[in-house]
Parts: sequence; structure tokens; C-alpha cells
Amino acid sequence: MTPLEKVQARFRIEFGEAPAAIVRAPGRVNLIGEHTDYNDGFVFPLAIDRAAWIALRPRADSCVRVISLDMDDDQSFNLNDLPRPDATRWIDYIIGVAWALQRGGYRLAGWEGVLAGDVPIGSGLSSSAALELAAARAFYCVSDFDWDAAQMAQIGRAAENEWLGIQTGIMDQMISAAGVAGRALLIDCRSLESTPAPLPADTSIVILDTGTRRGLVGSAYNERRRQCEAAARHFGIAALRDIDLATFANRASELAPVIRRRARHVISENERTLQARAAMLAGDAEALGELMIASHTSLRDDFEVSSPALDAIVNCANAEPSCYGARLTGAGFGGCAVALVRRDAAEDFVRKVGAGYASATGNTPALYVTRASAGATTMQLGAPENTRL
Ligand code: ADP
Ligand code: MG
Repeated sequence: MTPLEKVQARFRIEFGEAPAAIVRAPGRVNLIGEHTDYNDGFVFPLAIDRAAWIALRPRADSCVRVISLDMDDDQSFNLNDLPRPDATRWIDYIIGVAWALQRGGYRLAGWEGVLAGDVPIGSGLSSSAALELAAARAFYCVSDFDWDAAQMAQIGRAAENEWLGIQTGIMDQMISAAGVAGRALLIDCRSLESTPAPLPADTSIVILDTGTRRGLVGSAYNERRRQCEAAARHFGIAALRDIDLATFANRASELAPVIRRRARHVISENERTLQARAAMLAGDAEALGELMIASHTSLRDDFEVSSPALDAIVNCANAEPSCYGARLTGAGFGGCAVALVRRDAAEDFVRKVGAGYASATGNTPALYVTRASAGATTMQLGAPENTRL
């Protein structure tokens, strides 16, 4: 059963009627522009065809009750007395969204419903942003406010950063809120302006999950952030977004070697990300693939966030003639890579790379061909999509 079928079926059992609305918000994969979001730079993700879904109906009181099928749990809270986060349970993401909305002056109504998703949890495809944006969309359905994708992304991020205390950039929430079907989105993480761009014709995006996770991603991520901030401070700029590669090259020797490498990754990655847009507009899959390969090299050697498993799966992918380019995606250290592949060869690519990587490393990978989907949406049963309750 799909998550949509699951939430509908359980809703009927639990509440004895069809849901008033169903919302979904997708996970994401980033094509290029890695570790640039917290440097006010550019990212180029697409919303994937896997999402968090909530079937819901309004409540007359100020309670929110959610049944999580994936966690096999049933939780409630009162909007007038939000319980503080407790070791980051799944419900804390929804409470955090309620908290951020209320802090932003949004008046919220209660609801109850069923949650399920098919974004793999903790593999770097941002099941957390999908949950946050689905929750925001659920509140939007039953309350009286307008949906502004960038604002809702900031609400989701505030929930994760400030309520849960988990540091993330804005990319995941932006793409989950604002994704466009069939398009990748160039996002300027300073202005939050986003520009859709078509993927090159006759290509497929393949997600390659190494099957490995690393526990210390959080502390390594925070260290990289501090190093980037130190480089920006040295140059007297607000963020590494504000310096181009030529200026950096002239002054790079002023920095300590590690900080220099970190900065060089971010500054060159911003340039590659902007070049990727030109490649997409020209429909040039080869050029886009080259940029992805260069991105991986920079992440591996300068930013040092790859891992043997990520390098192995990327090497297996790049060895296939049908692959234009592959790179690690997300924070790194484990999790997923992404590849741009000739569409007519995608299934063959999945089989060969899966087998080659498994025999080279002994790990069990998961590979999916994905499609670019729309950002957070509401399905009104029996009414046009995105109708309000
Ligand atoms: P990811 O890389 O997938 O975003 P995170 O660790 O950031 O991984 O977020 C995963 C957490 O988000 C889960 O532990 C859970 O608390 C919550 N979550 C995500 N998806 C779901 C879901 N479908 N149902 C319940 N909770 C979910
Ligand atoms: Mg997450």
C-alpha cells in the first residue's frame, strides 16, 4: 500500500468517516550546491516522489491528535499549552511547527489525523522537513491563514533549529514547500528566491543510498559551519556567498590550510551551482554531469565530508557509460549519493551499480529512480487540488 492508501484506510477505521483533507509534503534530493545553504549561497534540489502524508479533519477544540503509522504511536497535545521537546520524539516536530507558527502570529485551530510517509528516515532525504511541511500544511488546512512557501519553510526550519535544537540550513524546508513537478529548483538561500529549471531531456535522477549512517554528522556539521564563519569573518564579509573565486584565489594564502580548503569548497560550489542552471537551461546533461563530478571531488578533498562508502558508490556510478555524473548529496559521511543517468538505461544502471557497490563494500545499498514532484499540497477528496476546507 502507498502511504496515501494507508492514511486513508486507517483514518476510516479510527474516525469512522473519510478525512476532510489529505496533505503531503515531499523529501528532497540535492543535485548540486552542497554545504552552501548556511553560507547564504545557492542550492539546486528537487522534491522527490516520496513524501509525508497526513489525512485529517478539523477539531472543535484546541487539541491536535496524530496517529503515526510508521512509529506505531498515538500522540496528542494542546495548542494552548505546548509541551516542551522531550528527546526529539516524532510528535515534537509537529509541536515545533505549531510553536513556530504561533510565535509568527498565526492563529491555529486543532485537528486530528493519521500520518505516514515513504521518505526513508535518517538517510539524508529529509524526512524531517517533509514532516514539518506536512504539519504546516495540516495547520493551514484547518486554520485561517495564507500559504506562502518561503514563510512556511522558515517555520519548518525554526521548528527544527529552535524548538528541537537541530542545526540545519533552509534548503530542505524550501524545496519541500516550494518544489515544482518535473523541475529542479535553484534556490538563493539569502533571498529565498527560487527559480525552477527543467532537467535535461531523456535523463533520470537516481538516488543511491549507501546503506551506511554515521553518528557524528551533527558535530562534524557544526564544525564545518564554524570553519566557514571563520573564513567569512577573515574576509570581512557576511557569508562566503559574498566572495568570488578570483578574489578568493588572490587572498587564499591568508587562511590556515584547513579553513582555506573549506572556503574553497563553498566558493567553488556556489559557482558550479550557478553554472548548473546554465547547463540545465541548455539541456546539456554532459555539462551538468561534469559539474556534479567536480562537486563530489570538492566535497571529498576540500570539505572532507565524504566517506569510503560514498566514494565507492559514486565511483561505481561514474564508471557506468550511461551516467553523466554522480556525487554525494546531503550532509555527507554516509547516507545517499545522487546520479544523473540516461533515462533508457536507468534500470540497468540501478542493477549494475547496486551489485557492483555491494560486492565492493559488503554494504546493502538501496537505489531508486526518482521524479521531481510538487512541494507541499492539499488533496481535497472530491474537490480540486488545493481547495481550502
Ligand atoms: P532525515 O535525514 O530523514 O531528515 P532526521 O533525523 O533529520 O532524518 O529526521 C528523522 C526524524 O523525523 C525521525 O526520527 C522522526 O522523529 C521524524 N519523522 C520523519 N518522518 C516521519 C514519519 N513518516 N512519521 C513519523 N516521524 C517521522
Ligand atoms: Mg532531517
